Amino acid sequence: MVDLKSQYEKIKSQIDERVLNVIESTAFINGPEVQNFQKELADYLGVKHVIGCANGTDALQVAMMALGLKPGDEVISVSFTFVATVEVIALLGLKPVFVDVEEGTFNMDVAKLEELITPKTKAIIPVHLFGQCANMEAIMNIAKKHNLYVIEDNCQAIGSTFKFSNGDVKKAGSIGHVGCTSFFPSKNLGCYGDGGAIFTNDDEVANRVRSVVNHGMTVRYYHDHIGVNSRLDSIQAAILSVKLKELDNYIKARQIAADFYDKAFENIEQLETPARYSQSNHVFHQYTLKLKNVNRAKLIEYLNSKEIPAMIYYPVPLHLQKAYVEFGNYKKGDFPITEELCDQVFSLPMHTELDEEQLKYITTAVVEFIKGI
Ligand SMILES: *Cc1c(COP(=O)(O)O)cnc(C)c1O
Repeated sequence: MVDLKSQYEKIKSQIDERVLNVIESTAFINGPEVQNFQKELADYLGVKHVIGCANGTDALQVAMMALGLKPGDEVISVSFTFVATVEVIALLGLKPVFVDVEEGTFNMDVAKLEELITPKTKAIIPVHLFGQCANMEAIMNIAKKHNLYVIEDNCQAIGSTFKFSNGDVKKAGSIGHVGCTSFFPSKNLGCYGDGGAIFTNDDEVANRVRSVVNHGMTVRYYHDHIGVNSRLDSIQAAILSVKLKELDNYIKARQIAADFYDKAFENIEQLETPARYSQSNHVFHQYTLKLKNVNRAKLIEYLNSKEIPAMIYYPVPLHLQKAYVEFGNYKKGDFPITEELCDQVFSLPMHTELDEEQLKYITTAVVEFIKGI
């Protein structure tokens, strides 16, 4: 699904030099590279504070801890996402409340949001799925009206932007009270191991996040509240600093590949190409299609037989997963769009190194299968 090796070859000399410098300096934890990268990412996103942490899952957990959410508080998020988002809600003793998604963008359906708000609701976590922003204007308006926090799960959409109706354009993850991201190797800005970050414009929240990721300390060995140990290490920060300079080029490469796919499939009625949401640019973490009247398992099997990877993100909605049904006595039929998507979607290879020959090979195989050639 990704080609990290070819991408590395192109930036190898810079990466190798920066990594070796960290090793020579032995500043492995919280070294200058971490401080430097946090500043660079803050500038790129247009936020005041970026705080590194160990992974995207921790970023979400730390955000909720830093905002002071307490057991029993309700947090609204989607069922059509990677499990991490909802896992950490449950882990903190908070109650995940699911909302359905929109058919076109696969993102939180804001029209169904307000009816789920109760006196216990404390936060909304929109997930910018597959590289496209949820409707942040509507979400921020609803949050403001009901005095709720908004935590953006920006693990899949770093570099994406959202355009407000007054013309303001902001980067994904910089709009809510807190933004969270992952630097897992296959993400749009990926490191060479695990990593994550939390962003905010709020000085107080930033201080609290810095303390939570460091065992709840502000003064060394004085623990004001319960924290965790979650760090972005200096080697990963050095790698990310090199790759951040390439991020906009990487996004462009993904968009070119997506355009190629779109064009190849435009007249195939069994394939619905990803909707492009007018208020957000799409950075294509995934290229995810909807299939109509096609045997998905057979299609994937056929593609795999031609050495083309294809994946289903995500085959089972979270509200029907064993671990999460109990949170609302959820059952089949509760979130029809989410359930329909889980049955219909499939994702094709999407990365920065796809060339025309590969794209032709992939699209030809897909079309051949569908037309029964
Ligand atoms: C990847 C991802 C995460 C978790 O990130 P990790 O770094 O793997 O912990 C959370 N939410 C979404 C939507 C993701 O895609």
